[in-house]
Amino acid sequence: MKVCHCLFAPLFMVFAAGSLPAVEPIPDKLVVLTFDDSVKSHYTVVRPILLKHGFGATFYITEGFDFAENKKSYLTWEEIKRLNDDGFEIGNHTRDHMGCSKENLDKIAEQVEAINERCEEYDIPKPVTFGYPGNAFDEGALPILEELGIQFARRGGSPEYSYSKDRGKGFAYEPDRDHPLLLPSAGDARPDWTLADFKRAIEQARDGNIAILQFHGVPDIEHPWVHTPVERFEEYMQYLKENGYTVIAVRDIAKYVDAEKSRPENIWTVISQRKAELAEEQNAGE
Ligand SMILES: [Zn+2]
Repeated sequence: MKVCHCLFAPLFMVFAAGSLPAVEPIPDKLVVLTFDDSVKSHYTVVRPILLKHGFGATFYITEGFDFAENKKSYLTWEEIKRLNDDGFEIGNHTRDHMGCSKENLDKIAEQVEAINERCEEYDIPKPVTFGYPGNAFDEGALPILEELGIQFARRGGSPEYSYSKDRGKGFAYEPDRDHPLLLPSAGDARPDWTLADFKRAIEQARDGNIAILQFHGVPDIEHPWVHTPVERFEEYMQYLKENGYTVIAVRDIAKYVDAEKSRPENIWTVISQRKAELAEEQNAGE
């Protein structure tokens, strides 16, 4: 077969250079749903609503709090397995809901592996994404998570926004600017949120940015400060459906972003730039 001066030649050259795009362009209205802390209502309330709409989502599983004893408020592993079999992603949120602070760095591997082992026991694929418990992180956690096979890790809306004062506000994920192991939450749902707060978060899903949302229980009896009422949640999901949003799990970001290549030189650059922008806006408003 002669390929030298026919149409195939450039194509072969591109293949050889490995420069064919491996990922799809990021569409506008791309939203990622995450649900933390193994709350029972993830199975009883959230699951049927997501299935009805055909939405993807990640459930960040931990055996922390009183997961072991309180099966009225927390999922069983059989229910977690069922969520996996439904097509949802099971992500790692550490065994004990351990914050990834500097003092805890040497315990991360054991904490992550304990959840991985449970997954293996229940024939659930080894988690490839991670949710930082309490949304806390130390930079030293990144190489450890990477070593453990984690491709994407989600944080909260801080440090750009204050956890307590800013009512769950956050920025959308900007590939290349945000590190794949420090994906920000564009919104972290709070009990007094209305559709307007939800829209503020998801409307950032444009121009190549992806809006990642963080939920806890719907309802959340054990963690009332991050509770979402059922009617609100139904309203949010209906809004996504009616307005043509694409709703995926964290692991599905790999379809659009090459986690190995899409990395900033310095993880703090984008964070300090955003903080500076917010300070400027605040000054302008005063
Ligand atoms: Zn949590």
